[in-house]
Amino acid sequence: MTSGSDIAARIENQAERLHVSIGAVCNNNCIFCMEEDREGRYVNNSAMTAERVRWMLESHTGAEEVCFTSGEPTTRPELPDFVTWARSLGYRRISVMTNGRRLSHLAYAAALAKAGMNRFYISIHGHTKKLHEGLTRTPDSFEQTVAGLDSIAKLKRFGVELHTSTVITDRNLPHMLDIYRFLRGHGVDQVVFNVMQANGRADTRRVRPSGTARRSSAASRTKRTRPANRPRQAGPATAWAERRAPLAKTSPAVATFAGTATERGP
Ligand code: SF4
Repeated sequence: MTSGSDIAARIENQAERLHVSIGAVCNNNCIFCMEEDREGRYVNNSAMTAERVRWMLESHTGAEEVCFTSGEPTTRPELPDFVTWARSLGYRRISVMTNGRRLSHLAYAAALAKAGMNRFYISIHGHTKKLHEGLTRTPDSFEQTVAGLDSIAKLKRFGVELHTSTVITDRNLPHMLDIYRFLRGHGVDQVVFNVMQANGRADTRRVRPSGTARRSSAASRTKRTRPANRPRQAGPATAWAERRAPLAKTSPAVATFAGTATERGP
């Protein structure tokens, strides 16, 4: 059994992991999205120019992993180029946190893998259309995300890893085992369930078993403040490096941002 000190030592010795926020928009509309301020995200992440991405990558060579994230990274046309840069700079693990919808186009998924992307974290929140789309509030997102899983599963023979992230809410909590079996059946290597963190929409809403959302009475009573080590969503383009366990894009649950460094590029 792993002790607390073992875990602490493992985290302490963990190599740096670089997150680069490149997605200024998202084609989903999740009820719990931590990026509720879509306009702020657009302003912030639009400032992450290709030049800044390059600067970030060059500044952190030696990191264990570079992960393209925030908003929906696959909406960024230069993503394959960024992956190529990362590979040429020697990053061994190159990943993306995505809702997976664009990966339903196998040719696009294969182009990313060919450029050097070798780990995909795909957000999926249910094993049925009703459950998933009730949370993403985006028609047909279930079919596309599942097709995205299947695309990456086909690429696993080239060394690509397939992980998923499921944000647990009142609605999908009773179906965790079904979700796990469903995802494993689609070739997922690592299924991660994340506890929702009170950020963005999750700070102002919560999901009831009936499937409707309402203002959280706790949220309305309590004035919340941004943790000092968490980057603001609006403002200059940011990226952050961290030493900690893998972070799911949509989720927030593990996002303690220990060791966060907010950086400004050129
Ligand atoms: S949680 Fe992720 S997939 Fe959902 S709206 Fe937010 S950024 Fe998009």
